[in-house]
Amino acid sequence: MERFELEIPTTVTEAVDLLPASWDEDGGREAMPIAGGQDLLTVLKEELYAPERLVHLKGISDFGGIRESGKGLVLGALLKVASVAADPRIRLHWRALAEAAESVASPQIRNQATLGGNLCQRPRCWYFRSSDAPCLKKGGYECYAYGGKNKYNAIFGGGPSYIVHPSDIAPALQLFRASVKTQSGGGSRELAISELYTLPADSDVTRETVLGPDELIESVSLPAPEPGFKTTYVKAQERGSFDFALSAVALGVRAQGGKITECRMVLGSVAPVPWQPERAEQEAIGMKDEPESWAKIAAVAMEGAEPLSENGYKVPLTKGLIEKAFKRLREEDV
Ligand SMILES: Cc1cc2nc3c(=O)[nH]c(=O)nc-3n(C[C@H](O)[C@H](O)[C@H](O)COP(=O)(O)OP(=O)(O)OC[C@H]3O[C@@H](n4cnc5c(N)ncnc54)[C@H](O)[C@@H]3O)c2cc1C
Repeated sequence: MERFELEIPTTVTEAVDLLPASWDEDGGREAMPIAGGQDLLTVLKEELYAPERLVHLKGISDFGGIRESGKGLVLGALLKVASVAADPRIRLHWRALAEAAESVASPQIRNQATLGGNLCQRPRCWYFRSSDAPCLKKGGYECYAYGGKNKYNAIFGGGPSYIVHPSDIAPALQLFRASVKTQSGGGSRELAISELYTLPADSDVTRETVLGPDELIESVSLPAPEPGFKTTYVKAQERGSFDFALSAVALGVRAQGGKITECRMVLGSVAPVPWQPERAEQEAIGMKDEPESWAKIAAVAMEGAEPLSENGYKVPLTKGLIEKAFKRLREEDV
């Protein structure tokens, strides 16, 4: 790992001033924010980039805690993933979010990792993570996953890069139509989670979010609870103890008289962004809340999937997860 300076500002203005206002020509950054360090330190050790300065956000009190906003909740970017999982209000009213946070990594990592860092973590594709592979995401000319080892890569929204976004929390936040508040030298802005992430074909392929180099996530806003809208998060992982998702489903359903009246669904680890199969959400409305419908909805959700050579398994796996999520919502007290 290269040497770096460490700055610990106590206000957001100081923090933003310590960050660069524009991207370096080579796509690197002279300074970067660090929160829990669970992703960034790994990336630095792998020497994927080498900023001269790290700006630790831990001294900024505005970025911490949970506040009730009148309607919903405002979660500070420095909130630990473990605190998101444990908060009784989140467990009661935004259940899929608590379940998603609980599924992240191990207890030790959840106690260190922050909400903002989880949303901004870099992809896990092993070509990206290997300093020996000058892949497209690192400013090279080729996505090696396309014709190489792609078991964990995208089946939707891929091209020219086929990474999947690794966060478990992002799909759950998108399910609740949460938004992030950011601060930068240009001021403050509010972005829906669906606007925070960007497909590789739509913008600079070396980045996963629309955040500028001096733009920080200050907080995440959860809109008011939606009575009768039951939610859950279901994740498939290779290793039983803790692991990134092979595929995941954040599902929300409202049902009345045995029929689905509202359905929202966001898939994780199948695309470079949290993936919302809108046609499946619409088709679900009016269907009976029963296994035959769940299978039909899941099939619609998988329409348009374009598996690579080694990840075709994600199609039946994700279908199964969707059906499991519907079953859990109908049969379990969630
Ligand atoms: C073994 C292992 C298993 C894991 N399993 C999972 C899993 O199952 N599910 C999952 O979702 N994640 C998993 N992770 C990833 C882990 O959750 C993230 O590394 C962690 O959440 C990152 O948070 P952090 O606070 O440590 O971020 P940092 O490492 O400090 O930062 C990560 C990135 O975010 C940027 N950043 C941090 N805070 C902000 C902010 N407020 N505004 C703008 N940019 C910011 C940093 O510059 C950096 O680029 C795993 C990690 C490990 C090491």
